[in-house]
Amino acid sequence: MYGLKKEDYLRVGLFGGTFNPIHLGHLRSAEEVRELFNLQRVIFIPSANPPHKQGKDIISPIHRMEMVNLAIEGNPGFSASDIEINRPGKSYSIETIDHISKIYGSDLTLLFIMGIDAFTEISTWKDYINLFSRCNFVVTTRPGYSLINLQTVLPADVAGNFSYLSEEDRFIHASNFSLYFRDITHLDISSSVVRNRIKENRSTRYLLPEKVIEYIKGHGLYKDS
Ligand code: ATP
Repeated sequence: MYGLKKEDYLRVGLFGGTFNPIHLGHLRSAEEVRELFNLQRVIFIPSANPPHKQGKDIISPIHRMEMVNLAIEGNPGFSASDIEINRPGKSYSIETIDHISKIYGSDLTLLFIMGIDAFTEISTWKDYINLFSRCNFVVTTRPGYSLINLQTVLPADVAGNFSYLSEEDRFIHASNFSLYFRDITHLDISSSVVRNRIKENRSTRYLLPEKVIEYIKGHGLYKDS
């Protein structure tokens, strides 16, 4: 499943997102985290029905998944999963993490990857209080957002479950899982900017992989609405 063999892949990154469409900011973030944490694989997981992005011209998950597949082609450290697009209802990360943990058990070290913008909204995620006792998390920088301290994002009782290990620059949760904040190359690219450019017939070259640009053109995506 997900191209993983239990015996081969022990350190895996999970990168959830709308990927509407996937762009070089997503790909670079996954690549840097993969290298930093010595992950054998980063799995891109497009969400079916993202609870936080209602009404933001989200195109069909089939197209978003296809573009992810085209974007990761040729990188053996990347794969994609349709686990969320095949699950009915809203896409909740905690359910995805639980599902994958159940399949691989404790043999697998999971690192959930998210940008700082997503992290600042984490207290709106389903069951966010329990998220940090399910796997490790890494929060990456993104242009326009500065790294903040935990207390500004999490209520005191949740933030209080973490202690900071300065020699390893990580927070450790009472459950023993870690939370990392890492600075990555700042690529000021967002899917919304890409969608707007397409609507305005402007170039998206070097913001997205060429194959994704061709796919978008071939299917006439993001032109209206
Ligand atoms: P939109 O502009 O439609 O809100 P987006 O560009 O933020 O979309 P998402 O699919 O919502 O893309 O993002 C998925 C994950 O990737 C999130 O955790 C987000 O923080 C992260 N991410 C998106 N763009 C970048 C970027 N340029 N650099 C680093 N992380 C990014």
